[in-house]
Amino acid sequence: MEPFTLLTDFDGVWTDPLRELAAVSGFLTAELARFGGVDAARSVELYARFRADVMARPSEHGWRIDGRLVSYVDEDVFAEPTAVGQWIEAARCADTARLRAAILSEYPSVLAFLDHCYHSTCARFREEVPHDLTRGAERVLHWFLRERIPVVFASNAPFEKVAGWFACHGLQVADARDSEPGAAPLRAYGRAGKQCLGAAAESLVVGGREVPVDRPQYRAILERERAALVVGDVFSLDLAVPLAMRRARAPGAPRALGLMHLEHTPRWLLDEVGRGGVDYLVSHVSALPRLVNALR
Ligand SMILES: [Mg+2]
Repeated sequence: MEPFTLLTDFDGVWTDPLRELAAVSGFLTAELARFGGVDAARSVELYARFRADVMARPSEHGWRIDGRLVSYVDEDVFAEPTAVGQWIEAARCADTARLRAAILSEYPSVLAFLDHCYHSTCARFREEVPHDLTRGAERVLHWFLRERIPVVFASNAPFEKVAGWFACHGLQVADARDSEPGAAPLRAYGRAGKQCLGAAAESLVVGGREVPVDRPQYRAILERERAALVVGDVFSLDLAVPLAMRRARAPGAPRALGLMHLEHTPRWLLDEVGRGGVDYLVSHVSALPRLVNALR
């Protein structure tokens, strides 16, 4: 039997992403105030209204790339500012139309403006806080080290974020692209490209939502690492590809899939757990040792 390896997402599994999300939406709101020529309170009000419009139909909104939803707004907290931006881009009311025109006077597209908001805020956030790991994350990693179970992070965040935040606890994470599987106990792929779709329009239907599974960059990581357990907080980004691989009995497919149970985890995903899709709900990262012990 192959050695047991855990492949895991980073943000939302090992971190509390809400503070970083608040920083992104705070910056976006400030920019909207500038573009709209309104005060901060009015801008907050507008953002809340746009957000409510988006959240009213979550199956239609999320992180949309080239017309396809790569994650849904109700499963992925970081898709929220993007979905609000894309709501502005659609310009369905006088407020969004005015903001759209103002943004396009400075940026080539609303998406380019959103990328700027997201990247500049996240970079500043990492300068301001030493780390935002969830409670007990380092103790859990020490358990994996003691048990000699390799942990591989596959994250859309930059490698430096994963390595830097664990370094605050004296834990060394190797760049997975520069090392062979098993060469170091903790390895990470940054900018894993889980959102990047291939040309094939393959998808799964889970909880009534269509989720694209042709994500070649992420699939290559899964095939290389051959993890027994894959854990993530956003089904579309983290778990859809390994689930499709398992259904196809593809090489490198995991034996088990765990979904982090966060405050916002939507019903359409919770209802699917244990029905041949995701196998386990993980209440917190500190529950991973028990799950791993049950599986290995
Ligand atoms: Mg995540």
